[in-house]
Amino acid sequence: LRGSATPVIPFTQPGNLTKIYAIGSGKGGVGKSTVTANLAAAMAQQGIKVGVIDADIYGFSIPRLLGVASQPTRVDSMLLPPIAHEVKVVSIGMFVPSGQPVVWRGPMLHRALEQFLTDVYWGDLDVLLLDLPPGTGDIAISVAQLLPNSEILTVTTPQAAAAEVAERSGSIALQTNQGLVGVVENMAWLEQEDGTRLEIFGSGGGQSVSDSLSKLTGTDVPLLGQIPLDINLREAGDDGVPVVLSAPDSPAARALSNVALSL
Ligand code: ADP
Repeated sequence: LRGSATPVIPFTQPGNLTKIYAIGSGKGGVGKSTVTANLAAAMAQQGIKVGVIDADIYGFSIPRLLGVASQPTRVDSMLLPPIAHEVKVVSIGMFVPSGQPVVWRGPMLHRALEQFLTDVYWGDLDVLLLDLPPGTGDIAISVAQLLPNSEILTVTTPQAAAAEVAERSGSIALQTNQGLVGVVENMAWLEQEDGTRLEIFGSGGGQSVSDSLSKLTGTDVPLLGQIPLDINLREAGDDGVPVVLSAPDSPAARALSNVALSL
């Protein structure tokens, strides 16, 4: 990453119509990155021009989930993002030596995000998705500052403990004046062979986050979907082909595609 003298962030220019969704969660491991990768792939398949910024500094996993092995290519002063499944992708993971942990302070993270917005040639995007690190940290605040038009999509599991932290991460929007586009409940249940649903992580977390964020903001923050546990989804992530493409008829893929359509 290099310094850029005068930051001009195309996504904040008046008249820019790119919809920007920052995907956040309270806790790690709830499937935030998996949801981001699948929403991006589903949107691209629907003919939407979509880009993803993997801003999950400490747990970047978008390149693997989307099967991107290459780096951005430098052309003059711009970086051309790699494209996978019709999705333009930039990740912090593309700029750190492999196998090494990222030990960065807040201002460096802010700078990195700023450069993803200014120095990467995104072209004319319909949608930009940002995969945030879990919690309410520096990056969430930087996103609010650099992209004041962005809206937050909160991912939670059905578990009460996860829902409480998700609420806290969603409520940061109140302080930053960002909109809350909705809530996705992941790992909602496991469908058994006889058709019954095994609620491994309990139930009600997604609805509860939706209710409390609606109450807190005085606007409707809908529960946009419930994604079941699905072995296809995990395998697809490991193979670098999102489940919405590799097994589009699976219950998880259908639920994810519906969320993509609702955005
Ligand atoms: P986060 O970004 O919140 O840390 P990930 O997207 O990395 O979470 O998901 C954590 C793990 O859970 C991954 O191994 C992923 O494949 C798996 N996973 C996520 N959602 C599901 C699901 N609905 N069914 C099965 N496995 C899932």
